[in-house]
This record gives sequence, C-alpha cells and structure tokens, in this order.
Amino acid sequence: MARRPLVAGNWKMHGLRGAADELKKIIAGAERLAKVELMVCPPATLIADFAAAARGSRVLIGGQDCHALAAGAYTGDISAEMLKDAGAAAVIVGHAERRRFHAETDKVVREKALAANRAGLLAIVCVGETRAERDAGRALSVVHAQLDGSIPDELADFVIAYEPVWAIGTGLTPTSSDVGEMHRVIRDWLGSRWAAIRVLYGGSVNPANAKDLLAVEAVDGALVGGASLKAEEFLSIARIYG
Ligand code: PEP
Repeated sequence: MARRPLVAGNWKMHGLRGAADELKKIIAGAERLAKVELMVCPPATLIADFAAAARGSRVLIGGQDCHALAAGAYTGDISAEMLKDAGAAAVIVGHAERRRFHAETDKVVREKALAANRAGLLAIVCVGETRAERDAGRALSVVHAQLDGSIPDELADFVIAYEPVWAIGTGLTPTSSDVGEMHRVIRDWLGSRWAAIRVLYGGSVNPANAKDLLAVEAVDGALVGGASLKAEEFLSIARIYG
C-alpha cells in the first residue's frame, strides 16, 4: 500500500517568536515538495502564530503533548481541544522525553491518543526501546508491548514514530537492518486493518544519514528533533522524497 511520507519536526523546548522566520523558510521550501507531507511541532506558545502563518500552505502544525481531558483544574496543562482551537492539526504523544521526565506510562499515552482523536487531531504516538533493553535483546518485545498499551483500538487514523530512546539527541542511530526489523514488526502489529497507518523513524536523523534511514523498507518518513530547527536542514531531509 502506498502511504504518503511524512517528515515532522519536533522543536521540543526551543523557539521564541523570532523563530517564525525559520517557519517561513520551511513554508517556502515546502512549495516544491509535492510528494511529502511536512509538519512542524513548535512549543505550545508558538502554535497559534505558526498555524496562522502556515494556513493555506503545505506545512501542518502540531503540538508536542496534550492532556487527556478537554478542560479542568490541571495547572500548566494543555488539552487537545486547545491545540485544535489554536490551529494544530496533530499532536505528538508518548515522546520518550515525556515518558522519562513526566513518568508517562503506556496507559497515559493511550488516553492522550484518545484525546487527540476526540479533538480531531492526528496522534503521533511514539514508541522505542532503551539502550539497556536493546542490549538485552528485548527491543522488539518492548516496542510490541508499548504498541499494545499505547494505541487505542478505536482509532482509525494515527501515526507511529519508532524512536529508539538511545538514538534521540545522541548522534547515534540503529543500523538500517535494525530499523527494518523493527518497522516490519510494527507493520505486522498494525496488520491489514491499519495498512494505511504511517510509521516514522526518529532518532538523530540529519541531512547526512536521512537518505539511508528513509530508504529502509516500511519507513514512511521521519520525526526529526535537532535537525528540524534549521529550515535548510529540515528541508534537505524532506527533499529525499523529491
Ligand atoms: C525527537 O525529539 O523526536 C528526536 C528524534 O530528536 P533528535 O532528532 O534530535 O534525535
């Protein structure tokens, strides 16, 4: 099945309002990239401005996290409905940094994915093993269990980002063969019911290694952290799809 590739940038906790210049360059570059979907996930403070700037362009705007509930006494949290209202089209849930620094369990990630769906946002659900789990030969079973626990059965459309925790922000990447093996396992898990669901690779993707990583069978695009902050680097990754 032909799935439209997606290259999404996770800006994490980077970017003040001046970063809109970088977004403008991404929007301009995206005009020449018809075969790939582009998304920028800036900090929540920038979503409304970015969504306004990107309206009518080929660039989608996403959030980096959401609360499971639509509203309530949860100081500092942001609901999926609020992201939608600000102009977001998608939201990342279960990123390794949320799982690690905010102790998010698969159950919490699942509730956030459901919230995204309720609000009309595309959930980008992140999974991935730690270095210790890979070294112990448990990478495939760990990711399998994360999929079982984090993806709500009721979703019709979502995206999975396979991000080995040890590859995020480290400059390290798995071999193409390890990426291929994991993506095959994820595709098997998705089965025929979810044949249209895209599975991204994430973890230290940059313009130098993107060609090899994105060429791996069953890799439908990338979730890019550090290299998404500079328009030129982000676009050169997306340009691999022509
Ligand atoms: C990420 O934040 O999802 C990520 C993959 O980061 P980086 O590309 O910097 O490793």
